[in-house]
Amino acid sequence: MKLRGRIVEVNDEREVETSYGTRSLAEVTIRPNPGNGRASADGGPDVDGESHADVAGGAAQLTLWGKWTHTVEHAEPGMELLATDLETDEYRGEMTYATTGDSHVVLEPGFLVDVTDVRSWVQCPRMYYLNKLSGIPLNYPVVKGTIVHEVFGDLLRDRDLAESIDERVGEAGLELGLLGREAAEVRDEVRRNAAAIEGWLSQGTLTEEDAWRSEYTLISPTYGIKGRADALRRGMPVELKTGKNTKREPRFHDKIQAAAYALILDERGVAADTGTLLYTKNTALERTEETGDLSPAKEFSIGDGLLDFVVRTRNEIAAMEFDSSVPTGYEADARCEYCFEQDTCMVVSGRLDQESKAGQIGSPVPDAERAYFDRFYQAIEAERRAVHAEYRKLWEQSAEARAADDRALIDLEPAGRTELDDGRWELRARKPAEAVSKLREGDVALASDGDPVAGHAELCRIVAVGDDVVVRADEPLSVRRLDVYPSEIGVDRMLTALHDFVLKGDPDTKDVLFGRRDPVFADRAASPGTYVDNNAAQDEAVRLAVDADDIALIHGPPGTGKTHTIARIVRTLVESGERVLLSAFTNRAVDNALEAVREAGVADVVRVGTENGVREDMLDVRLERGGEPNERAAALRDAPVVAATTATCGSRVMREQSFDVALVDEASQLTEPSTLAATNLADRFVLVGDHQQLPPVVQAGPTPGGDDAGASAGDDDAGAGAGDGDANALSTSLFERLIDAHPDASVLLDRQYRMAQRIQAFSSQEFYDGALRPASGSVAAQGLADLGVDEGALPPALRDPVAFVDPQGERVGNTNPAEADRVADLVDAYVDAGVDPDDIGVIAPFRAQVAEIARRTDVSVDTVDRFQGSAKEVILVSFVASGTLDGPLFEDHRRMNVALTRAKKALTLVGDADALGSDPFYARLLDWAQR
Ligand code: SF4
Repeated sequence: MKLRGRIVEVNDEREVETSYGTRSLAEVTIRPNPGNGRASADGGPDVDGESHADVAGGAAQLTLWGKWTHTVEHAEPGMELLATDLETDEYRGEMTYATTGDSHVVLEPGFLVDVTDVRSWVQCPRMYYLNKLSGIPLNYPVVKGTIVHEVFGDLLRDRDLAESIDERVGEAGLELGLLGREAAEVRDEVRRNAAAIEGWLSQGTLTEEDAWRSEYTLISPTYGIKGRADALRRGMPVELKTGKNTKREPRFHDKIQAAAYALILDERGVAADTGTLLYTKNTALERTEETGDLSPAKEFSIGDGLLDFVVRTRNEIAAMEFDSSVPTGYEADARCEYCFEQDTCMVVSGRLDQESKAGQIGSPVPDAERAYFDRFYQAIEAERRAVHAEYRKLWEQSAEARAADDRALIDLEPAGRTELDDGRWELRARKPAEAVSKLREGDVALASDGDPVAGHAELCRIVAVGDDVVVRADEPLSVRRLDVYPSEIGVDRMLTALHDFVLKGDPDTKDVLFGRRDPVFADRAASPGTYVDNNAAQDEAVRLAVDADDIALIHGPPGTGKTHTIARIVRTLVESGERVLLSAFTNRAVDNALEAVREAGVADVVRVGTENGVREDMLDVRLERGGEPNERAAALRDAPVVAATTATCGSRVMREQSFDVALVDEASQLTEPSTLAATNLADRFVLVGDHQQLPPVVQAGPTPGGDDAGASAGDDDAGAGAGDGDANALSTSLFERLIDAHPDASVLLDRQYRMAQRIQAFSSQEFYDGALRPASGSVAAQGLADLGVDEGALPPALRDPVAFVDPQGERVGNTNPAEADRVADLVDAYVDAGVDPDDIGVIAPFRAQVAEIARRTDVSVDTVDRFQGSAKEVILVSFVASGTLDGPLFEDHRRMNVALTRAKKALTLVGDADALGSDPFYARLLDWAQR
């Protein structure tokens, strides 16, 4: 029997006399989840066919016996607890529950702990924390380890060893070059490590067909663990270690890692009772110099005791993450004098004034910085929990519910597979015509045979989503379902950026960001005259950016020539010998800015990004990572302009780079730590954005201190973002915080080149204090006639550049079919009058309505988020709402600003006039549209 629910009360451990002698027990009171234990309610499928406790309403008493009393040391009221294989008893008419010898007790099972984290926690809980904070550095053991793992995977896929080593070492050219390594030396070392793998694989008993699986993505909903096993041999976990181990037994923390995979396999009904650790460096050791057991492969048996230990360890991690507390190292008995992380540990403890077993060195950062660190740490960890909640949906939601939620493409029909040169697979599947989802080309997704948790699943990269879905994966599975796979990378990178900024940040920049002084501008531009003709604001923006000693902020409303201004700034900086990092939130914005920079005559540029992420016409300057190490490293190091997304700026390669200036576009859509990932790399920075358009996307709700996130970033009034109602520190971008704090360091680009006067009026008035105006008379007076359209052929309702149509529709779920019909009719009217369908865009607030409209017309239809950064001659907006205003479009007026300002010559709003009139902002909008 299983029991799952929220903990109400935790009692201390005590000892009792039983017929078996003295035993420890502890009692916990649980409020069981509704429908306790069953698939949809307990967060886990009923994998083992156990029955479940049915507790009507009230709380249940659970007695934890023996080793499971460990739970109460970490449990807190409010945490979720899952206990399996319980026995029940009736006491005074009440059911009670108790653990048995087969039970497992899992704290916060919905928090998926990664297997590698279990391993580092076992080494020392504080090491787990330090790894999280500072990320994986660029160092040789890490790079070599990755290469050896890749070669291992290749060998399992039957590739030729020499070929694999050549290719894998070649692919790591950039990283090896930055580390000053020569390819020949690395090939040699990898070859010696690979000998251990090859020798072991060639042992006859281990080579049966189908007995191997490489890089296997595993998730355990019951035990709350996820990870990718290096390999499974006959269902048993195999872990590869690139270090040496001359003892007979594997190291304890390595065993724990393999045992964690065994635990996940156990949930799938595979009793993995043996684990193998393969220490590849053992074959590279000289027998004359080393004594002991030099055999690389060390097997060990995985008993229940080890599996229980894994569960208890992951419980400790989940409990620590529950309230984002910080481990001190005293929780375990690791010896600091033997720890590789001792220096880092002491510095972090000293700078952040944290208690640590290793002690502290260095003086603490000022209180305001520590408060800033704590506040963002809490917010980032809350975001991590939100990502974990997304993982949970993989098994909490049915396939149909996930598809309806746009998180999965289901009912795919496998339609062929091709083995690629590198041994990986390109897999194809036919998609039902109606299916829509968030999945896009270039995304990493989870491909499965239909069940992503209990079935066969592989991480893959999407190559195409059309009538067919095409993905690339390590294994040739039959793709029947494709799921959004939530990634923690964004969260991890925010944390390392926060760490780098507070602990290693430039003191001068910090003074400005913490409000200890105002930004300084040198008068460097006294002589050069004008940078931009016929646009005073753009000219001033370039001057401000070039003259900035610390920061400059460029506020660019829609269509105001931000990209042109950026290009001019970059060119000016490069001409004066500065090295520039060009960054933005999205690949699309990076490529747009880079294109403009190249058109402005700056040829020596490098684009860092994946082949899928970089736009085709920028691939010629994409930094090829593979090749001769010195040459690859020089290509990056010597480039005067490097362009990359802010996420890529947080990668281990980019974190090693330094620049004179970082220029970040779309800065108002970035969380503060994400912006820091780029600005940390430069002496000074320029942020370009518009905080009246879409804000940063944040999943988590309110976080502690979120209300005053901006204000307390400084000692004085630096954070004018204070009190604006944001309840999550990540919701306010650094751009917005700084533009409020330092208006003198900003320029508003006030002339727009996009919209007709009539279209821009509402946005200008509501969002830019009336300061936004058309750049010229022809911009102001533009109309459909300029496209050769016979305006007289349009229905009267569409003859004004701004129109409002009420189709009298009804909202049904997230759709409004009558409105969709009307939108399609209006699109036809524009097309019939001579507008090119490519010039028309339709914006709807929900993906379901997007799909509804897309079924009725061939023009481009999407959500507001997808339209940000682009424009069309004609835009139609479908509001969906009827009766009351409800939906993402209405949560934040800034979304409406984005929607309205996508239109150049004609804008038609389609919605329920009564619903819109019920809110003052939308009533003004209606007034304007119906004028
Ligand atoms: S120095 Fe000590 S407390 Fe710090 S991580 Fe290492 S073992 Fe843990």
